[in-house]
Amino acid sequence: MRKLGIYVQVPFCRTKCTYCNFHTGVVSSSRFEPYVEAVCREIREYRHLLRAAGVDWPGRLGRCSAAPLQEKSETAGEVGRRGRGRASYEVRQRPALEGESCTESSIAVDTVYIGGGTPSLLDPAHIGKILNEIRIAFGVDWPGRWGRSRAAPLKAKSEMASDGGRRPAFPTGSGQVPGGPYKVEIEEVTLEADPETVEAGKAEAWVAAGINRVSFGLQSFSDKELAAAGRMHRRADIYRAVPILREAGIGNISFDLIAGLPHQSKESWRASLEELARLAPEHVSVYLLEVDEESRLGKELLQGGSRYSAGAVPSDDEMAEFYELAQEMLGAAGYHHYEISNWAKPGFESKHNLKYWRREAYLGFGAGAHSFSGTERWANAHDAAAYVCTVESGRSSVEQHEILTAQQALEEELFLGLRQLNGIDVGKIERDYGVTLAGRFDPLALAGLVEREGSVVRLAAGKLSVSNEVFVELMR
Ligand code: SF4
Repeated sequence: MRKLGIYVQVPFCRTKCTYCNFHTGVVSSSRFEPYVEAVCREIREYRHLLRAAGVDWPGRLGRCSAAPLQEKSETAGEVGRRGRGRASYEVRQRPALEGESCTESSIAVDTVYIGGGTPSLLDPAHIGKILNEIRIAFGVDWPGRWGRSRAAPLKAKSEMASDGGRRPAFPTGSGQVPGGPYKVEIEEVTLEADPETVEAGKAEAWVAAGINRVSFGLQSFSDKELAAAGRMHRRADIYRAVPILREAGIGNISFDLIAGLPHQSKESWRASLEELARLAPEHVSVYLLEVDEESRLGKELLQGGSRYSAGAVPSDDEMAEFYELAQEMLGAAGYHHYEISNWAKPGFESKHNLKYWRREAYLGFGAGAHSFSGTERWANAHDAAAYVCTVESGRSSVEQHEILTAQQALEEELFLGLRQLNGIDVGKIERDYGVTLAGRFDPLALAGLVEREGSVVRLAAGKLSVSNEVFVELMR
């Protein structure tokens, strides 16, 4: 059974953070409804839209792709020549992958992730509508979620069931919604949320709609840092929102923190980590501040100005120090470090995000959403208004589509695999891709950047903050 993740992009924010230049917009809430309608239509018509975009779905999903990739890929010599100036791994043969037939009935949707932007800005009925569309299109249910008897769930059910009579009412027990070819294996349904958007009624409706995990963009517990970064919430909002989510029945909460926000010091960073540990979320992501050159802060930094607290951005060395402190303190608080930026209590690793690092398939819906079949990557147009117009007119919004070569697949395998702290099985990759890699890691091991254990190679624990240098070295 192949596992499939579904991603839904909601590109709206309440304000623009100073460091961010994502394709997200601060728009009137009147734009939400047409956008949600377009997403629902894209989900409903995805087979037809993918065919129109020239995407082969699901014929070569994941590792089923071996044979077609072999036919279409360049020869080993061509791969080597094409890779001028880049790593040539001397791919001697096409990936030796098992040739299982791949039909929709052998696929199980097991994760859904609604991200952004700030999807918690949407009306909960919008979230319910999108999830209902996914249920129908992919034949999935959220077993066990419907047994929760609270006022809000009942209301949400009746609203959905009355949607023109076209959709079936939400089931109240486990089972498969008729209409989809996929199996029922849903495990994790995540909603990204900002603390200031959380209200009791909303949280209950999210749970009623099937959300069982909330990923919070906290970034910091320091009001000074939050204000300087242009975030809408403050420390008090975090303490207000978490109990609301717990009370509503969310048993899996993730916190995002950013190391390197303007005005951050080692002391304030330590305080944020201590407060986080007291609130005991099941999952934590720590990102180093990345300032987009086109963001307000980015432009100010380039000009050498001081607006947006540009003069108070910590140095790269300080950020590395913050990251290492996070490693130490989160480990001491019982979190398992499983990916460069991610920690989890046992059993709470993000099932959806693991798909990205393991190169498993996911389908993305919404403006700018990316998808991956195992051999092909494609992405929708970023502009939300253009996306809505395109989908409303019955056309595909896919604007980038790439069939990966064996060389690209191998590079992804190394780059994404090494982000996971378990490392990569070099022997297996060599067998799958017909390459010899061992020598590639010798200088990195000598420099203490990677560790080897049998055929497994992983980034050295003390060198995670310089992982990009390792990747650059490996791909040269
Ligand atoms: S909330 Fe996230 S996506 Fe929106 S502006 Fe801030 S960083 Fe960017």
